[in-house]
Order: sequence, then C-alpha cells, then structure tokens
Amino acid sequence: MDAETLREYLTFYQDLGFTSLYKRSAKPAKAEQVTVPVLPALPALAPEGDTLEKIREDIGDCTRCRLHAARHSIVFGSGNPQARLVFVGEGPGADEDAKGLPFVGRAGQLLTQMIEGTAKREGIPLERNDVYICNVVKCRPPENRTPEPDEMEICGQFLYRQLSTIQPKAICALGATAARALLGRKEGVTRMRGNWFKWRDIPLMVTYHPSYLLRPYNQDAKREAWEDLKKALHFVYD
Ligand code: SF4
Repeated sequence: MDAETLREYLTFYQDLGFTSLYKRSAKPAKAEQVTVPVLPALPALAPEGDTLEKIREDIGDCTRCRLHAARHSIVFGSGNPQARLVFVGEGPGADEDAKGLPFVGRAGQLLTQMIEGTAKREGIPLERNDVYICNVVKCRPPENRTPEPDEMEICGQFLYRQLSTIQPKAICALGATAARALLGRKEGVTRMRGNWFKWRDIPLMVTYHPSYLLRPYNQDAKREAWEDLKKALHFVYD
C-alpha cells in the first residue's frame, strides 16, 4: 500500500472514530509472537465506481451491529442520487422502520414542509425528491434511543460511502447525533446550528432535528431551523 492510500485509510478510520489501529508484523521476531488485535480486512474507502446500489448491496441483510435484532427494515435512504444537498438524520423511527423509507412519519412530514415551503418562499424550484435523505444508522434503535457510538461507527461506513458517492454541494446534519457522526463534535445543536463546518471538503450546516421542532414549546428553534435551511438552500441553489 503506498503512502497516499495509507493516509486516506487512516483519515477514513479516524473519521469513523477509531483512535488506534494495530498491524501484525509480516515476519514477527520470536519474542514478538503474541496475539495482538488486528482489524479485519479493510474495506475499500470508496471503491472504484461505487454507487448507491453497490452500497445497498454491500449492506445486504446486515447483522454487523446489535440494531439488526429488532428492525423490520433497513432504511437505506431516498431521493436523488445526484442530489446537490443531502440531509442526514439520526436513525429510523417506527414509521420509517415499517415502510423502509427515511423521514416518512410526523418529523418527516415536517422536514418535507420545511424543504418545499422554504424553497417556494425563496423562489427556488425544489421538491423533496430533488434532495437526498438518509440517516447515520440504517436500523431503528429500540424505543428510539440514541444510537451507541459503536453502532454509529459500524454503520457510519455506509453513510460515508453514500456521501462520497453522491458528492453533494452541501450536507445538512439534522440534530446532535448526525453532527457528532460527521464532525466528531459533541457540542449541543444550539451552539453549532446555523454555522458552516466541513465533512471532508463538503460544506456542512448543522440544524435541529425535525422531531425536536415538533415539540410545542420549541417555536424559537423552529424559526431558527427555517433560517438555517434558507441559508443552506441559497448556498446550494443560487
Ligand atoms: S444499523 Fe447499520 S450496521 Fe447496524 S445492523 Fe443496521 S445496517 Fe447493519
């Protein structure tokens, strides 16, 4: 493996949250013949000619993390495979798990209204189908709990491949979990929202998750989320 490829692998695994990698020496000295943890064969970073279909095929009937146990469907993502804007949420809820599609419950309806309503008001011809929507984890966490760090690391490889394949002009991270998975930052959304960050070289805006906005006492957050979205839409479509 050449130095550049090695550097890319290390960045990829750092992005996934791994802090240590172990390598077995090709010809260990006798004194070194101890078992050390070795990662399984490294998957390709963004395999040559990667496509969303190929990623879905690689996921298969996935049992790579404990979230497989209670799921009904793997919720891969939906929308335009060449989208210029990708929304990333946390994980499927009950409606999404039942239908196999992301953001189809109440929060999803609000997201659709936000995207289409803001675009219309701003004179941008855009429908929900023009963007791409997916989640950090593809299987519903029981009781809608927050995904555990290891679940996010394991499933994150597929999210990263989706984003690398689509190569949108911008990403919108919906809520703290998506922001953590993509930026590795642990601050609350209130501190990060409305600002531009980067996932690799792609500009990334953090805003509230629509399910948070459904709570009646969050009217200020709703207004702020609309502002964030307006900013993102103008950045991408102007
Ligand atoms: S959440 Fe992701 S890694 Fe875990 S079982 Fe589902 S598809 Fe596989």
